[in-house]
Amino acid sequence: MEYSALHEHLDGGLRPKTIIEIAESKNIPIPTKDEEELRNWFFENISTEKKQVFKKFEMTISVMQDAHSIEKIAYEAVEDLVSDRVLYGELRYAPLQHLQENLSPQEVVNAVSRGVKAGENAFGGEFNTILCAMRQNKDSFEVAELAINNTDNKVIGFDLAGPEYKFPPSLHKEACDLIANSEVGLTIHAGEAADLSYIEDAVFNCNAQRIGHGWQIIDGCELKDNLYLPISDIAEHILNKQIPLEICISSNVKSGASSITIDDHPAVKLLNSGFKVTLNSDNRLMANTNLSTEFKKAEEHLDLTINQKEQLLTNSFEARFTNLI
Ligand SMILES: [Zn+2]
Repeated sequence: MEYSALHEHLDGGLRPKTIIEIAESKNIPIPTKDEEELRNWFFENISTEKKQVFKKFEMTISVMQDAHSIEKIAYEAVEDLVSDRVLYGELRYAPLQHLQENLSPQEVVNAVSRGVKAGENAFGGEFNTILCAMRQNKDSFEVAELAINNTDNKVIGFDLAGPEYKFPPSLHKEACDLIANSEVGLTIHAGEAADLSYIEDAVFNCNAQRIGHGWQIIDGCELKDNLYLPISDIAEHILNKQIPLEICISSNVKSGASSITIDDHPAVKLLNSGFKVTLNSDNRLMANTNLSTEFKKAEEHLDLTINQKEQLLTNSFEARFTNLI
C-alpha cells in the first residue's frame, strides 16, 4: 500500500533534532534543546486564540532562512515521508517567508527543489511542491508568477495559506486567475478556520481545483441517516464535480481553529456521502502525526473500513495535481 500526501506543509514537518542543530549553529532562541521536550512544545495546544492557526510556525520558519538549511529540511521531509510509505507527495511552503537572510524568492524555490530531488534520488518516490501565498499579505500575485516560472523546477501547485478568517480567497482573485489560466494546480485552504462562505468563495470566485480541509462543507448539507446531503449550491457543486477535499483529522483537532473532536470529525461520513475525501497529515510536527497515523485514527475513531480506506487511497491518487491538471 502506498500513500499520496497532498496536503503537507514543509515548514510544519521538521525534525526536532534538525531545528535544534540549526538553531544552535545560528544562535536562534528555542524553548528547549531537548528533542522530546521540543516535540512536545510543538504539539501542545498551538493556539488558544480561536481562528488563529499555528503561531508555532514562526519557530520553524526561523530556522529555514538559508539555502543549506532549507535544502536539508526538504531532503529530510522526503526521507520521512518515504519511510511512512508515502511514494507521492506535494510539499507546500510559502517562499516569501524565507527571505530574512537575504535569499531571493527564486533561491528559496531552488533550495527546496534541490532538497526534494536529492531526496527522491536517495529514497525513491515522486515529490513535487506547492507554493503558498499568505492570505494576510498582498504579494500573492508575485508568488503566483514564481509558481508559473518554476513548473520545470518541481512546482506543481499554488495555495492560499495563513489565517483564514477575515481573509477570504477572493482578496487574491488576481493571483488565482493567473494560476487558473496556467498549468499550475490551484488549491486553497478554506473551511478550516472560517465558515462555508469561504469554501464558496474559493470554488465559485477563485476556481480552486481542490480545497484544503474543507470539512465545513457540512454546513451546506443536512445529515440524514448518517449521510451528508447537499442543501446548498456549493455543497452540490463540490459533490457533483468531485472537487477533492484535503482533510487533515489530527490537525483539525489540534489546531484550535475549531471545536471539532476526533470522534465527531465528519471525514468518513463525507466519504460515505460520495464527497471526494482525501486524508492528509497537514503538519506532521505540530499535529504529531503522519499518514499511517491518520488512517489508524480514522479506523479507531471513525470506524473506517478496508473498502473505505481503499476509496481514500484512490481519491488521493486521482487528486494528485499530476492527474488533475
Ligand atoms: Zn494546511
